[in-house]
Amino acid sequence: MTSGRRPLREARVAPPRANLEFSYNWSRGFLHLFFGGLNPDTWLLIPESLKEVLIIGGGFSGLAAGVALSDGDRRVRLLEQKPHLGGRARSFLDRTSGAVVDNGQHILMGCYHATIGLLTTLGTLGRVRFQPRLALHFLDRDGRATALEARDLPSPWHVLLGVLASGSFDFMEKLEVLRLGGRLGWSKAPPRDAERLSVREWLTQLGQSEALQRNFWDLLCIAALNEDPSIASAALFQRVLRLALFSSPADSRLGIPSVGLSEVYADAAAAYIRARGGQVECGQGVDGLWVSGGECRGVRLTGGEQMEADVVLSAVPWFQLAAVLPGELLRREPFFAAAVSLRPAPIISLNLWFDRPITDLDFAGLRGGTLQWMFNKGKILGSGGNYVSLVLSGAHRHIALTKEELLAAALAELGDFFPEAKTARLLHSLVLKERFATFSPSAEVEELRPQARTPLGGFYLAGDWTATGLPATIESAVQSGYTAARAILEDTGGQ
Ligand SMILES: Cc1cc2nc3c(=O)[nH]c(=O)nc-3n(C[C@H](O)[C@H](O)[C@H](O)COP(=O)(O)OP(=O)(O)OC[C@H]3O[C@@H](n4cnc5c(N)ncnc54)[C@H](O)[C@@H]3O)c2cc1C
Repeated sequence: MTSGRRPLREARVAPPRANLEFSYNWSRGFLHLFFGGLNPDTWLLIPESLKEVLIIGGGFSGLAAGVALSDGDRRVRLLEQKPHLGGRARSFLDRTSGAVVDNGQHILMGCYHATIGLLTTLGTLGRVRFQPRLALHFLDRDGRATALEARDLPSPWHVLLGVLASGSFDFMEKLEVLRLGGRLGWSKAPPRDAERLSVREWLTQLGQSEALQRNFWDLLCIAALNEDPSIASAALFQRVLRLALFSSPADSRLGIPSVGLSEVYADAAAAYIRARGGQVECGQGVDGLWVSGGECRGVRLTGGEQMEADVVLSAVPWFQLAAVLPGELLRREPFFAAAVSLRPAPIISLNLWFDRPITDLDFAGLRGGTLQWMFNKGKILGSGGNYVSLVLSGAHRHIALTKEELLAAALAELGDFFPEAKTARLLHSLVLKERFATFSPSAEVEELRPQARTPLGGFYLAGDWTATGLPATIESAVQSGYTAARAILEDTGGQ
C-alpha cells in the first residue's frame, strides 16, 4: 500500500481527555481540531500545506529532531523498529528484582546544553539530579577513598583549586594536572599538537606520569569517549576536557537520572510530538529508502508497505544505516561509504543486587582494577534496594567473555574496593553487553563523520555519530537531531 499525498491527511492520535477539545495556535496560524469519541479511531485534520518529515529511529537524536520539527510546523512521523523507544539509552523493568534497569548507566553534564534544553522543553529536566558542584569520588583497590571536588570559584580555578586540595593525587601529580589543566583552561585556541595523536601519546608527550594516567586521565577518557586511551583521539579528548572541566563551574557538574532513562525523555518526547499532530510508531521497521529520479521519496517498511514523505531523516546508528541505504548508492557515494565504515566500541554493565549495602557513595571511580565505575543504583533511584551497577567501558577485551565469566571476575575484584562485598550475599545479577554502544573515536574518525545534509535529495542524517565534533553521547545525539531539523526547515522553507 502506498500512503499518497491527500488534501487532508488522516492521522491516528491519542484520544483526547475531553470529548471535544478545541485549540487555536495563533503563533503558528493553523487550526487544531481534536474530535473525541470516534471510537476506535480519533481523527486529526491537518492542512496539506504542512510538510511531512518521516524520521527513522526513536533514540535521542530522532526524538530531538521530532520535537524540533513539530515546533517548526512540520508533520512528524517517527518510525521505530523496536517495540519500545530509546535506542541505546533506554530502561526496562527487571521482573526478578522489580527494579527499573537502564541498558547502561548514563551520565549527563552541565555542558550538555542542547540536552538540557530538550528536557526543559519536555518538562522532565527535574528527573536528572545535577550536582551543585563537580565532585568525583575515587576508590583504590585497598579501599582507600579520595575525592576531587570543584571549588566555588570561576573557571578554571574551580577545578584547579579542587585538584590542589584533593587527596586523589600526590604533590607531583598535582603539578602535572595543573600544568595540563592550565594549558587547556587558559589557552583559547585548540592546541594543534594533538590532531593525529592518541590520548596516550598526547598525555605522555605532556609528561603526565604513568600512574597519573592510569589512576585519573584513563578513567576520564574511557568514561567520556568509551575508548582505550591508546586508541582514543587526543583532539576529541581535549575538546571534551575544555567543555566539561574548563568552561564554567555549572558546565562541570554531573547529572544522574533519578528515574529510568526512558522516563527521562522517550515517553515525554513521543507525547510532545503526538500532541502537535505527529505520529510515533513502535514496531515499525524501515527496510529501505524509496528512491526515484535521484530523490528520496519515502521509505519501504519491513512489511512491504511503501510510505511517502516530503523529507526522510535517518536517525539510526551508522551500523544500521547500510541496511536502509540502496546498495548502489552506498557503492557510488563516498559520503555514505565513509559514514558506515566507523568501528564500534562496546560497554558492559553488571547490575548486582546484594542482601546488604556495600557502600554509601552515590558513585565512584575504581582505580587499579578492570572495573571502572560503580553506581549505587538503589540509592540513586531511591528504591532502597542494595542494587549497584558496575561499568566496564571500551570493553573490547572483555566483550567475548560469557556473562558468567564477567560476573565471576567482577565479584573477585569488588571486595577489594568494597570490603562489605566480601561478606554480602549476591541475590540477583543482570549482565548487559552493548557491543555497538558507541563508535570508536580514534584519531582518524572525525573526517568520516557525515553532515546532516546528504548527497541524496530529500534525505538527511542525524545520530550521535554524525559530525557534531563530540564523542558519541546523548549531547551529540540531541545536537545532531537539532542540526538536522534546522537543515530540513531551511531547505523546505521553514524558520
Ligand atoms: C551502555 C551505554 C552507556 C552509555 N553511557 C552514556 C553516558 O554516560 N553519557 C552519554 O552522554 N552517553 C552515553 N551513551 C551513549 C548514548 O546512549 C548514545 O549516544 C545515544 O543514546 C545515541 O542516540 P541516537 O539517537 O543517536 O541512536 P540510538 O539510540 O541508537 O537510536 C537509533 C534508533 O533507531 C532505531 N532503528 C535502527 N534501524 C532502524 C530501522 N531500519 N527502522 C526503524 N528504526 C530503526 C533503533 O532501534 C534505535 O532505537 C551510552 C551508551 C550505551 C550503550
